[in-house]
Amino acid sequence: MAETPKKEESKVEGVKRASRHLRGTIAETLAADSTHFHESDEVLLKFHGTYQQDDRDVRQDRRKQGLEEAYQFMVRVAIPSGVVTADQYVQLDELADRYANHSLRVTTRQGIQYHGVLKKGLKKTIAGINQSLLTTLAACGDVERNVMGCPAPLGDSAHTTVQRLTKEIARELRPATKAYHEIWLNGEKHLSTETESETEPFYKDTYLPRKFKTGVALATDNCIDVYSYDLALVAIFEGDNVVGYNVLVGGGMGMTHGKADTFARLAEPLAYVEAEHVIETARTVAAIYRDHGNRADRRHSRIKYLIAEWGMEKFREEFRQRVSFTPQPFRSIPTPPVHDHLGLHPQADGKWFLGVFVESGRIIDRPECQMKTALRSIVEKYRTGVHFTASQNVLLTGLNRSDVDAVQRVLKDHGVRLVEELSLARRFSMACPALPTCGLAMADSERLMPAVVDRFEAELTSLGLRDEPISLRMTGCPNGCARPYTADIAFVGRRPDVYHIYVGGGIPGDRVVDLYAADVATQDMVTVMRPLLSSWASNRRNSESLSDYYQRLLNRTESRQLITGKEEPTQRLIQLGIAS
Ligand code: SF4
Repeated sequence: MAETPKKEESKVEGVKRASRHLRGTIAETLAADSTHFHESDEVLLKFHGTYQQDDRDVRQDRRKQGLEEAYQFMVRVAIPSGVVTADQYVQLDELADRYANHSLRVTTRQGIQYHGVLKKGLKKTIAGINQSLLTTLAACGDVERNVMGCPAPLGDSAHTTVQRLTKEIARELRPATKAYHEIWLNGEKHLSTETESETEPFYKDTYLPRKFKTGVALATDNCIDVYSYDLALVAIFEGDNVVGYNVLVGGGMGMTHGKADTFARLAEPLAYVEAEHVIETARTVAAIYRDHGNRADRRHSRIKYLIAEWGMEKFREEFRQRVSFTPQPFRSIPTPPVHDHLGLHPQADGKWFLGVFVESGRIIDRPECQMKTALRSIVEKYRTGVHFTASQNVLLTGLNRSDVDAVQRVLKDHGVRLVEELSLARRFSMACPALPTCGLAMADSERLMPAVVDRFEAELTSLGLRDEPISLRMTGCPNGCARPYTADIAFVGRRPDVYHIYVGGGIPGDRVVDLYAADVATQDMVTVMRPLLSSWASNRRNSESLSDYYQRLLNRTESRQLITGKEEPTQRLIQLGIAS
């Protein structure tokens, strides 16, 4: 029996409830001779790992001509810890050519996205991904999303444990519906799916109120930016072995321009749990969210709003009541360092891995850089594993030391810059896809970011700061897919060619930015930042990072506040004493 609708639930809740566990009319529309799905199936498609989009560059022209939108689909592969084999990578690469726009995009959550898939190729794309023993199920939608973990193949016990745990959590919280197999994998209907007895034991009829993101970091490496997730687990180890996890909850990047009651937030300490209880912990936190998250207003549905409303003590008490063990006090540990894993590193098994920078995560062939061809030929010839990082980069793993020079030569011959050739501003840069594919984008991001990095690179070099680690991130809207609110400098799209600039997060990812300048035109970005950058260059203490410097000045003014969607023109330069 379907659950009874609750009062004041959003339209999306009704769609989920009526969907017969994510079926809706997807199969029927898929079989029909149309270019797209209708609205309610669009909601359900996300749970299957695909977004219906249209080419926004041609939207207005097509409308003027009386044509429908140029519909296309984004297809996302969920890959726990971002780890794929050589064979899987080659198959992913082939699918990009066969059905998508000849590119693979490494996401900021260690998945892979295809763009430009047409409806007629959608089923074949998803089936092809499954043939390589990967899945798109729950890569999007109101469920546990891709579970992140350090992808470095260091081979030590702690890294191996963390990578295994991300797979276990993904398995534990994967939807149970058979709809996915029915629709995409050639009607492998199970008898149980044709009766009312099929249930979602964990998610029930309406799944989670919204998305739920989990990451597992190590006390020695937070390369996944763990504090920005709904559930953050930090592995604590004794000697080589993981003994337990610090658990933090309630992180989340998204907010809405103009809505002061929406905000970016870092996860807060909940408890320390022993290793044997970590799966139960993940399941319990997700269950509290399932049962108490806001289902009326999707802008306030993420678990961070529940925690902001309840307070951590109430959440902790609810957690204590539900688990079968006694949670322990959160363990005080230093902020974990962040390694981006680029460059050449030894593995425990005597092999090597090479981290390769991928600008905005886009693996594509362009005249100046044939990244896609280079990676594929290396993977085919040297049979390397491919691990995707949370910074949208690629680790080529399992290399013999004797092959490293040849691999680097292939990269160079194809115009791929090795890490030694990158400025630190470029090395730590990230951008979301935004225009022309993302339906929510208000401004460009991926297409604009390389030019913005060029200009900041030049400015930083002229100030003698080229070798200072600094993270630049850009998104086309405030939803925060490239985690802008933990960056040193973030550009968040307001409208075409206009951005809010935020400053003050930092590479460790343990601090949220501050709104530095509102509504800055693209061409003015460097000019607006110049006084702060020069002040940092002249007045910083020792090796103080830009964000440490900024926060020191900000603390002095006592004007720090939670960043929210509220728009307010800032007078930060004056407040910080940098301008008068
Ligand atoms: Fe789209 Fe906004 Fe996410 Fe960028 S941050 S991909 S514009 S939703």
